[in-house]
Amino acid sequence: MKKEKDYLLHLEDVHMRYRNHKGKMFTVLNDIDFKVKAGEFITIVGPSGSGKSTLLRLILGSEQPTEGTVCFAGENIRCPDRNRGIVFQKYSLFPHLTVLQNLIFGLEAEEFTLTRRILYPFKLRRKRKDFIEQAREYLERVGLGDDGDKYPQQLSGGMRQRVAIAQSLITKPSILLMDEPFGALDDSTRQDMQLFILEQWEKTDMTVIFITHDLGEAIFLATRSIVLSQYYITDREIDEGAKIVTDIEVPGDHPRPSEFKYCEEMNRFIAKLRHDGLDPDHRQHIKNFDLSFRDSFRTVTDEEWKK
Ligand code: ADP
Repeated sequence: MKKEKDYLLHLEDVHMRYRNHKGKMFTVLNDIDFKVKAGEFITIVGPSGSGKSTLLRLILGSEQPTEGTVCFAGENIRCPDRNRGIVFQKYSLFPHLTVLQNLIFGLEAEEFTLTRRILYPFKLRRKRKDFIEQAREYLERVGLGDDGDKYPQQLSGGMRQRVAIAQSLITKPSILLMDEPFGALDDSTRQDMQLFILEQWEKTDMTVIFITHDLGEAIFLATRSIVLSQYYITDREIDEGAKIVTDIEVPGDHPRPSEFKYCEEMNRFIAKLRHDGLDPDHRQHIKNFDLSFRDSFRTVTDEEWKK
């Protein structure tokens, strides 16, 4: 189904159900609607098990929704492609390849299928020079210009994540999906990496969708923040699965100065995200969800609630 082209990404009426170990279906995502314009930096927070990673997989195209549509630039997403890159918390680089070789391997795999490698070995060899140049350029860009000949085990956690980011950026994706990319890093490396990713975002016209458990990180990085949560109430007796309970703009200059992390406004935002979707003892009614972001979708209109 064709969707408005103004939006880079458009999810409509998305439901995702899985089967549990007893074979019974359960809902993870319950009626997700959201539209994304190019250049946004969106952070997604939510309780564990609220389907954040599932949502990223649907956008990546490695899974299809049980119901609803997920479109990129007006077209249904059917499988992963180079328009969308992904960075996970722990990235598996090949341990026997150097940083540079890891990057080149990714490029070759991207451009040459196994059949093409067998059919056109000379073409692949000619292209390799190009790949090496590109890999060097991207390593420079992520501050690892001198580390191309190192092996993954010789790198710190932060450096490995930079390689993972370079590996995604090198295919020039329109959307970079990040699933708790800094979750395994110590605090000071994490802060460096936050500034680093903002810098990369500024340099390109990329859109970023970033999952995090850290509410401070979510507010510091975002132009828009979304809370996905299974903690809410409706008038129906049974309603399961996570919904977007909050979709807000994070105002102010962007990227933000580091001092923003310590200001009153930041604390207010953090308290709001926690209150809106992370506290199992506090459940908002669906009609009170804060969907104030300009492109967010109200599942229930005010008129419907008056009926
Ligand atoms: P989050 O990232 O918010 O922690 P996930 O998206 O990882 O949540 O998972 C949401 C729920 O979906 C969890 O209960 C998880 O066990 C379940 N789930 C995820 N993938 C599958 C799958 N392939 N099969 C069955 N259940 C799954």
